[in-house]
Amino acid sequence: MNSHATEEEIRAVCEKIESLGLKPHPIPGAGRTAIGITGNNGEVNSASIESMPGVIECIPVSKPFKLVSRDVKPDDTVVGIQTALGEVRFGGKDVGIVGGPCAVESREQAFAAAKGVKAAGARLFRGGAYKPRTSPYSFQGLGEEGLRILADVRSEFGLGIITEAVDNESLDLVERYADVIQIGARNMQNFSLLKRAGRARKPVLLKRGLSATLDEFLMAAEYLLSEGNYQVILCERGVRTFSDFTRNTLDLSVIPAVQRRSHLPIVVDPSHGTGRRNKVLPLSRAAVAVGANGLLVEVHHDPDHALSDGPQSILPEEFSELVREAGQIAAVLGRVIN
Ligand code: PEP
Ligand code: MN
Repeated sequence: MNSHATEEEIRAVCEKIESLGLKPHPIPGAGRTAIGITGNNGEVNSASIESMPGVIECIPVSKPFKLVSRDVKPDDTVVGIQTALGEVRFGGKDVGIVGGPCAVESREQAFAAAKGVKAAGARLFRGGAYKPRTSPYSFQGLGEEGLRILADVRSEFGLGIITEAVDNESLDLVERYADVIQIGARNMQNFSLLKRAGRARKPVLLKRGLSATLDEFLMAAEYLLSEGNYQVILCERGVRTFSDFTRNTLDLSVIPAVQRRSHLPIVVDPSHGTGRRNKVLPLSRAAVAVGANGLLVEVHHDPDHALSDGPQSILPEEFSELVREAGQIAAVLGRVIN
């Protein structure tokens, strides 16, 4: 649509698309609204749409992913999360910062981490209430009790909450308690979960699968958008390679590749991306330098006694330093951390 298109013109185009038996996806942007069309097998007869008031042009998208593609929406999507401390944005010039423990272990532990995260200047708190663990004997998370603790963190500290849903059942609860729903690496191709998250009313942070190609990653995000959820933040968290001195190999080269193909923001998780505490700060610097739209970092007040991912968790003081350095590097690029 052109930048002066009215609400009525946008609505009329959506109705026209529906009358053709197709699904319209009006995606607002900074300058103008793009309307993606899905549900077609083959080319859409665009002449009848192109002549409508407010329409600039109809662009056929040849890529397998459509709604996530820059062909549909050329300008960056900025996902904004409202918190009591102000809005945190991912995308465009804004680099969003998230810190917190791998898992919520207790009220005391979550509050200690939250205190440090807030003191570092971050306004979003991560922490898993449902943990996808390799071993069934490892700590699985506190479940709804963990979500209640996260809600208390929000009311006590004003921080926004990001937490993972591992299946449709936990997603119902996570959607109620969280500000952002995390879909973990192991669930990147859990298509029924993606469809459910696509119908959720909260933004989704989608992690890249352990061995997912770029196309598979973007197609997973396409599931979310195709169900009507356009508030999606992608997350590179390392992939599995032959390199065995780190837990995963952080693929920073995927950042510009995603940004070239997609309007969605992409953040970097240097904690799972390396698995080693001493590599989190250098890789965070590199992530901001390469143009990541945010950082998701594991922070624990007592990492040696953490119930999960202690070896890659940094101390609150180290997180403060990380936020400070990330801010300096962002400034070089004309970006701001928030
Ligand atoms: C996590 O964020 O703690 C987590 C389980 O991440 P991933 O899904 O990337 O392994
Ligand atoms: Mn973890």
